[in-house]
Amino acid sequence: MKESPDPRPNLIGLSRPQLVAAMAEIGEKPFRAKQIWHWLYHRGESDFAAMSSISKTMQATLAEHFVVRRPQVERALLSSDTTRKWLLRFEDGQEAETVYIPDGDEERGAACVSTQVGCTLTCRFCHTGTQLLVRNLTAAEIVGQVMVARDTLGEWPTPDDVGRKLSNVVVMGMGEPLYNFENVATALEIVMDGEGIGISRRRITLSTSGVVPMMRECGARLGVNLAVSLHAVTDELRDRLMPINKKYPLKELIQACRDYPGASNARRITFEYILLKGVNDSPADARALLALIKGLPAKFNLIPFNPWPGSDFETPEVRSVKAFSDILQDAGYSAPIRLPRGRDILAACGQLRSESQREKASRAKARAESGLEDPC
Ligand code: SAH
Ligand code: SF4
Repeated sequence: MKESPDPRPNLIGLSRPQLVAAMAEIGEKPFRAKQIWHWLYHRGESDFAAMSSISKTMQATLAEHFVVRRPQVERALLSSDTTRKWLLRFEDGQEAETVYIPDGDEERGAACVSTQVGCTLTCRFCHTGTQLLVRNLTAAEIVGQVMVARDTLGEWPTPDDVGRKLSNVVVMGMGEPLYNFENVATALEIVMDGEGIGISRRRITLSTSGVVPMMRECGARLGVNLAVSLHAVTDELRDRLMPINKKYPLKELIQACRDYPGASNARRITFEYILLKGVNDSPADARALLALIKGLPAKFNLIPFNPWPGSDFETPEVRSVKAFSDILQDAGYSAPIRLPRGRDILAACGQLRSESQREKASRAKARAESGLEDPC
């Protein structure tokens, strides 16, 4: 039987002013919001009864009016390369995936968060893009992903960035973050808050497919690092690979990168470039790429295509990936080749949701064949 959703509002995902307003509604002063913020985001506490600096009577009042709720972990996977992936289930039964990618030495790592269930864009190389947009994630669901990762890594409370494995956040999961900007911004402001999760803006990178009109606001309000999914050096090819290019063509996109607030040689814009065999991976493409971004404080992230069932593209040979990277590096740019992480658990770029979608489809098929009702 379907459970009816809890009517009490969730305190997770409220901005500081919203939390103050929520406390005012139950007759509490702003200091209460500050106290609760500390428990929620510094201590990671989700049980009012364990918030020991709050009186028992007040704990009961809070529990009567509110809940502290994370997304539910439907499944947690650990890859042989120590990448982790969580399939998360939200209150309405929708699901999204979050990945934790440890750095080489495993002393640090990044949580890769999703911002939408599905995506409105239909980039041809991306499996998420084959799934229609179901809905935007809320701020609670976005910040909740970082909190779930921290729960698993056992990293509450954390006095500072030092010695913490979950050191970075990359907004590179399912969905286009700049098409859900308000919720993404609220969530990232919570993540960056120094009296809570405390991951600095310098350790957060947001990846966009090139939603030009939102890029300036993103830089001005959040000041996070920007990554742009470029993937092609001509409008003709980019139109084919990423239909958003028809709306915001390369010239406008590159100008928006030049105008990105806070970009400098110390804080370069990352250009993500998927290498698709025989499509965009020639030495001439690499040279055209250099010409395109000339004068920009840039670095590259080269991503050999991660295949998925039914995709139209192939992964290039290691040799040509290396040659492409060398051309960029010889021109003085950082151009690492992003090794696929967590392929065995389908956690690599562009593979998110694929397995869970397939499983869902086969579960639904099995249920239909057995004549049972869908319990969700
Ligand atoms: N929507 C945003 C962020 C999510 S996609 C964006 O497009 O930037 C994160 C990155 O994964 C993007 O650079 C995207 O182009 C890349 N990606 C998508 N499908 C991929 C695939 N099959 N192989 C490798 N990278 C892929
Ligand atoms: Fe959406 Fe990004 Fe995938 Fe394009 S690459 S379909 S924008 S998630």
